[in-house]
Amino acid sequence: MSQGTLFIVSAPSGAGKTSLVRELIESLDGIQVSVSHTTRAKREGEVNSVNYHFTDVAEFEAMIARGEFFEYAKVFDNYYGTSRQAVEVLLAAGQDVILEIDWQGAQQVREQMPDAVSIFILPPSREELERRLASRGTDEHAVIARRMRDAVSEMSHYHEYDYLVINDDFTTALQELQSLVISRRLSRPVMSERHAPLLAALLSQAPTVE
Ligand code: 5GP
Repeated sequence: MSQGTLFIVSAPSGAGKTSLVRELIESLDGIQVSVSHTTRAKREGEVNSVNYHFTDVAEFEAMIARGEFFEYAKVFDNYYGTSRQAVEVLLAAGQDVILEIDWQGAQQVREQMPDAVSIFILPPSREELERRLASRGTDEHAVIARRMRDAVSEMSHYHEYDYLVINDDFTTALQELQSLVISRRLSRPVMSERHAPLLAALLSQAPTVE
C-alpha cells in the first residue's frame, strides 16, 4: 500500500476554509480531514470528535509531554494540535489527509514532512473579509477590529505556502482545490509508487505472447 499525501490548508477566519474543506472531502474519494484536539470551548452546533476532540489544558499539556502531537500551537489563547498517531495511521492506509491548521502548525509539519502540499485560502478582498468577519454574531467594533488584525497576521504568512486559492466564487475555489489534490495524485512520484506493478509489466522485455 503506498502512502497517502498530506495536505495543509490554512486561511484567516472568514475565508471559508471549513466549508470548502468539507465539500472537498465529500466530493473526492480517498481523502479525509484530520480531527484536531483543542482546549477552546465548544461552539454551538459543534460535536465532540467530529469538529474537534475537545480537551482541557491539563490533558493537552500531558499529550505534549508524551510527544503525542505531530504539531501543535497556541492560537488566540487556546491550544490546537494534531495527533501524530491518527495522521500516521491514515497515511499508511493510503488515505490523503487534510490538516486544517494555522501557519505555526504548517511550519512544524513542513519541517517533518517536506513533501506535504500546503495551500493558503484567501478572501477576494479586504472589504469582503471585513463583511464576513462582521457577520459572525457581533457588531462590536473592537471585536471586529481584533478579528481583522488576527486575519492580517495569518495572511502575512501566505508566501510560505505552495498554492494560493482565492475564495471569491465558492464553486470555482472548490474546483481549484480538487485540481490540486488530483494533480498531486497524478504526479510522477505518487503514480510510480502506486502503479509500480503496472510500470514493471509495461517495461518488461519478456514477451507476453509467444
Ligand atoms: P477555530 O477555533 O476557529 O476552529 O480555529 C482557529 C484557528 O486554529 C484556525 O486558524 C485553525 O486553522 C487553527 N487550527 C485548528 N486546528 C488546528 C491544529 O490542530 N493545529 C494548529 N496549529 N492550528 C489549528
